Amino acid sequence: MANDLHTEGFTNPLSNPGASNAAIQALLSEAQGQVAKPQIELPAGGNFRLPGGLVQGSDYTDTRYDAEVRELTGADEEALTKARSGGVGKFITTLLQSGTVSVGGQKASAALLSNLLLGDRDMLLLEIRRATYGDEVVWDQFSCPWCSEEFRLAVTLDEIPIRRMENPSERVFEVELRRGRKAFVRLPVGADQEAILAVVERATDSEQNTLLISRVLISVVESNGSENAVTGNPEFARSLGILDRKAILDAIEKNQPGPQYNEVKFTHESCGKEVPLFITAGDLFQGL
Ligand SMILES: [Zn+2]
Repeated sequence: MANDLHTEGFTNPLSNPGASNAAIQALLSEAQGQVAKPQIELPAGGNFRLPGGLVQGSDYTDTRYDAEVRELTGADEEALTKARSGGVGKFITTLLQSGTVSVGGQKASAALLSNLLLGDRDMLLLEIRRATYGDEVVWDQFSCPWCSEEFRLAVTLDEIPIRRMENPSERVFEVELRRGRKAFVRLPVGADQEAILAVVERATDSEQNTLLISRVLISVVESNGSENAVTGNPEFARSLGILDRKAILDAIEKNQPGPQYNEVKFTHESCGKEVPLFITAGDLFQGL
């Protein structure tokens, strides 16, 4: 509350950092003197079901869906501020590592999180957001794309549709290519996202697509029935026709489970038009 601010004796840390630090230290020790045993509350958290699931072993018989996240704390905020300078990939990885407690009964580790489908990672981000900032995402000055009116827009996280995978085996699927060929493709996981985000600032969208396709393409079956393994082969990904590449990327998009951030829409009452809303991770974590 602005009215309650005590500005008397205020030391500007920019003009006098030494005095300011000393004042802060004095305040901290004063505070410690008052509260002998500081009460440290455990961060709030939540349990929920992953839309894709963590596959154990080589088949899909032991797929685990339970996950737990917790509220981000000041220590996490410090780590995230540092990670931000390392780019988007580092930021998202740090966010997931900070806020995820466990997945499938296992403590969250970097390796485990890299193994999760992008849709499951999006779900973790959504729930970390809920535990940290609550259910409501607010835009103070949202501008209607139809009538340009500016207003305060609030959307609750429950308005974001969640697509759930019916069967864990759907993470590998077939895509029809032209001229009687077909491809076996797997859904991208965290490790793929990390590889792409690591080059996002120097690679074009097409180059990022080449990298993604070369990672998730398992094999291609020719029209004569012969099958060739093509994983990790950027040259092969480049050799595919533009329409075949598009078919693969569209199938990945269509099959990925998780929060559908670009399927949120609302009706603007003033103009009566339906407004599509494209929610990004940046909107979810506006404070960071
Ligand atoms: Zn409008």
